[in-house]
Amino acid sequence: MSDEARIALRDSLVRAGLLIATGVEGVFGRSGLFERIVEGFCDLVDAEAANDGAEVMRFPPVVTRADFERSGYMKSFPQLVGTVHAFNGNERDHATLLRRLEAGEDWTAGQAATGVVFTPAACYPAYPALAARGALSAEGALIDITSWCFRHEPSLDPARMQLFRQKEFVRVGAPDQVIAFRDLWKTRGEAIIAGLRLPLVIEVANDPFFGRAGRMLASSQREQALKFELLVPIASDIAPTACCSFNYHQDHFGHAWDIRRDDGTPAHTACVGFGLEHITLALLRHHGLDVPAWPADIRTALGL
Ligand code: ZN
Repeated sequence: MSDEARIALRDSLVRAGLLIATGVEGVFGRSGLFERIVEGFCDLVDAEAANDGAEVMRFPPVVTRADFERSGYMKSFPQLVGTVHAFNGNERDHATLLRRLEAGEDWTAGQAATGVVFTPAACYPAYPALAARGALSAEGALIDITSWCFRHEPSLDPARMQLFRQKEFVRVGAPDQVIAFRDLWKTRGEAIIAGLRLPLVIEVANDPFFGRAGRMLASSQREQALKFELLVPIASDIAPTACCSFNYHQDHFGHAWDIRRDDGTPAHTACVGFGLEHITLALLRHHGLDVPAWPADIRTALGL
C-alpha cells in the first residue's frame, strides 16, 4: 500500500464530506451521515447483546494517572501514550509562555502533567471501578463500555486514527467464564460483519508491544492465542485492518488492580472490542461513498 493510495482514500472521504480534515494526521471530524452509520452499527451489536444483562459504564476519555500506572501500559506501549499536561505556573511563567507563543517558539516546556492520561482502550476504566466494589460474585461481571480512545500514531492512512471510538464488552470472572465469553463473541462478531457483507478473516494477533522485550511478549501472546482480530481490507487489500478484536488477558488486569473472584483468587478478564471508525470506513470502502446507494438490506440492517 503506497502513501499515494492512502492519501487518495483519505482525500476521497474528505471530498465526500464524510470526514473533516483538521490538518493533523489521524485527527478528523465526522459528518452526520458518518455518525449515523456508527450509531446504526452500535444498535446492531446491542441487539445481539440484548439478553446478556451487561452493566453499562461510560467514562470520559481519560483514566486517572494512578490507574494508568497500575495498568502496565507504559511498560508495553510507551509509544502510543497520550498524557494530559496543563499550565501550572505563576504570572511570570504566563508572561514567558505568551512571549514564546508570540515568537513562534516552543511554549510547551512549562506544561506539567495532570492527574489524567488519555484512555488507550475503552475497557481500561472498567477494571479499577470493578476492583473498588470488592470481591466478585460467583457469576463474575459483564460490562458494556464505549469510549473515545487516543493512540499516538499519526498516519496518512485514514483507518489509522489517533482519536477513535471502541465499543466493548468486558467479562470478568473465572477462566472458563471469560474464555466462553470471548469465543461466543468471536462467533457473534463474525456473523455481524459477514451480515454486512464485508470480506473478513479472523486471525491470531498480537498487540504492538514496544522494543525487543516487546517482540517476545508479542510472540508469546500469539503462541497462546490470547488475541484474535477480525480483519477487513480498508486502505489495503494486502494488509487488512482490524475491525474487531477478541482478547483474553488471563489474570493480568486481575493482578494489576486486585480484582478478586468469590474464592479470593485474582479474576481473569476478556474483552471484545469493535473499532467503530474502522467498521464505518470498511462499510464505505466496500459499499461505496454514496450511502443512499448502498444495498437495501445493509441500509435496513443499520437503520439508514
Ligand atoms: Zn478491551
